Amino acid sequence: MINGQRIVDGPTETPRGLPLPVTGRALTSDPIVVKQEGAELRTYPEIFRPGTEELADDEIRMTCCGSGNPIVRRAQAATSWLIELGNGDRFVFDVGGGSVQNLWSLGISPAELDKVFLTHLHLDHVGDLHVIYDAMGWARNTPLHVWGPSGYTPEMGTAAFCDHMYKAALWHNESKSGHVPSSGAVIEAHEFDYSQFGPDNPQVLVYEENGVTITAFPTVHCIYGAVGYRLDWNGLSISFHGDGTPCSFEAEQVKGVDVMMHEAFLDAKTFSRKAGIPLETTESIVSLHTTGERFGELCNIAEPTLAVAYHYFLDDDTVDPFFDLLRTTYDGPVVLAQDLTVINVTPEQIVNRLAETDLLHWPSPPPEDKRGGEMREPSEAEIPAWLRQTVIAGD
Ligand SMILES: [Zn+2]
Ligand SMILES: [Zn+2]
Repeated sequence: MINGQRIVDGPTETPRGLPLPVTGRALTSDPIVVKQEGAELRTYPEIFRPGTEELADDEIRMTCCGSGNPIVRRAQAATSWLIELGNGDRFVFDVGGGSVQNLWSLGISPAELDKVFLTHLHLDHVGDLHVIYDAMGWARNTPLHVWGPSGYTPEMGTAAFCDHMYKAALWHNESKSGHVPSSGAVIEAHEFDYSQFGPDNPQVLVYEENGVTITAFPTVHCIYGAVGYRLDWNGLSISFHGDGTPCSFEAEQVKGVDVMMHEAFLDAKTFSRKAGIPLETTESIVSLHTTGERFGELCNIAEPTLAVAYHYFLDDDTVDPFFDLLRTTYDGPVVLAQDLTVINVTPEQIVNRLAETDLLHWPSPPPEDKRGGEMREPSEAEIPAWLRQTVIAGD
């Protein structure tokens, strides 16, 4: 293994001619999608190395920090994407288990990664919220802002979730009081009302700042209260749909976006064969998700310039089954995401490749603490004196 990539002993491509997963190449036949024929195209290094490429004023970079699902794998964290804009803004869409180690490896200060948008509260999309929050103190010095929908009851909404996450961290927070600045020890929920969606109100503006708009739209996923997002900035647009059963409604909300990111799932037969689960069980699970041919149907309505599939079980013999089904319904450019897939979007083209990051990365220094490094009082919950008296003093 070299810096997170596999060395394969034998052919490195599938029978369809796609790269094998985790071998350093993007899983696509369309690494470059030209939007403006005849335009002068920027060229990019084959591998993205954090800190070496400035974003242009009219450019978006999207990095997959988690391409997987609840079964977190060493090569596939659960769902999460980092979106960076040429104006300096950064957004995290979902923060599934294991994804924050990929996020931190990109060498951006946690204080600049303080805007998280949640599509729904399945644990494979929110499992690392405590981990992203835990960069408090010397690494994070700004509150963590979390956007997400209200629930069927108040207890099932994003605000209650954030409140419970904060309360669950009470021991953690108390232990750091008086030792590190408390500016980062805040989770601020920005919950929007899911009940306002309807046929006459399909999208709701949930964020508008610095020329960026993010709208939310409802998606079909298990129960009440899951959403997708569409981000528009500087004439560029992307969408992110969390999880779910593909539906024409969500496709219509993102019509013509530059990049549509949507979940994809194994077909029932491949899932049954790989996981050793009876076919009738996998058929039931798969019906709630987006198999290759349904992914293609979604694309036919949404007509994105590039479609990105994530939430998929990657393996040497699962890449082709996805594309086999996809190509029965759709001919356009599609990439099957793996962790650290990087996509650059400009007015002229969309380029996708992989990042190489340091396996022993350190967090970047935080920017100036706008709250002035406020310190809370040390906790009253002191260690008993009799035990403290036995501490072995250093020099
Ligand atoms: Zn999921
Ligand atoms: Zn889900």
